[in-house]
Amino acid sequence: MVEAHAPQRLGDSFVTEQLVIIGSGPAGYTAAIYAARADLAPVVLEGTVSGGQLMLTTEVENYPGFPDGVMGPELMQLFRDQAERFGARLIPTDATRVDLASKPFLVATEDEEFRTEAVIVASGASARWLEVPGEDALRGHGVSSCATCDGFFFRDRELIVVGGGDSAMEEALFLTKFASKVTVVHRRDEFRASKIMAGRVMDHPKIAIRWNTVVEEILGDGTVSAARLRHLPDDAVEELAVDGVFIAIGHDPNTSLFKGQLELDDQGYLLTFGSTATSVPGVFGAGDVVDHTYRQAITAAGMGCEAAMDAERWLDAR
Ligand code: NAP
Repeated sequence: MVEAHAPQRLGDSFVTEQLVIIGSGPAGYTAAIYAARADLAPVVLEGTVSGGQLMLTTEVENYPGFPDGVMGPELMQLFRDQAERFGARLIPTDATRVDLASKPFLVATEDEEFRTEAVIVASGASARWLEVPGEDALRGHGVSSCATCDGFFFRDRELIVVGGGDSAMEEALFLTKFASKVTVVHRRDEFRASKIMAGRVMDHPKIAIRWNTVVEEILGDGTVSAARLRHLPDDAVEELAVDGVFIAIGHDPNTSLFKGQLELDDQGYLLTFGSTATSVPGVFGAGDVVDHTYRQAITAAGMGCEAAMDAERWLDAR
């Protein structure tokens, strides 16, 4: 018999875990806290980059309980410490393969295989980035993918929002609360966004629109100072002085591992049915991997709690 915490490989006789949680953002760690306190001894596959999207933000001012704000990475460390305190087994590696048709389920990493009665998928979503020079280096220093998180820091500043979908419209409108001017830069001559959102943006006195334009480079020494724009029809290049660039070109849910095994919607988000239950009994979903509406740390944490309670009840009922 393999000892409970030793690495297991195919061919070993195996221990069946009660619950494996895939992901370590607010949803994954909250699920871990609740599941550990319910004596489910959860295994958390945190991923090689743990903590989720909050690791990419600076100060979080809207997470309840922190009236003076808290840095995103610090908040995630607190979540992690709390999960560990109650006995969650945290493993800083990616899940690389799942078999949700087998019973118990199989969840594998590069060098370990877990058999488990239940799984919580909290693998999150990743913001798409432009992948232009300057973007990476200035991320968190004027380059952001979250207006709700970072907009407040740009009072009376000039900003760019990149994108033409509903997210870009929402971000641009939200940023007008703080910024003196918002320029929406879109690569085509019409928005993909819903008419109502696009209309609000086009009518807004603080918003300018650059059609058929792409951001080629983000400039700044330490913080953003300008963006180099290219107007596609005539190839004209211009440096626009701004203090921040918000990228809103969509998110991709991290569901590639589950394709063909769990029902996904047409954008690849994990489908849940009523509660956090997915299309496979015993597999639950929480956080940004199921949510393209709210995408907040607090809502993800709430769903993580729900998923742990749903998993606990499902395990009990068996
Ligand atoms: P989206 O609808 O996929 O829009 C992405 C936008 O970014 C598109 O305009 C696209 O341009 C542009 N884009 C993509 N890659 C780019 C690149 N490399 N460089 C420059 N531009 C790029 O994504 P989303 O806005 O995040 O919305 C996702 C879903 O959530 C949508 O169904 C949306 O309706 C929904 N949503 C709804 C609301 C709401 O109702 N309040 C709010 C947010 C999101 P093209 O148009 O040229 O492809």
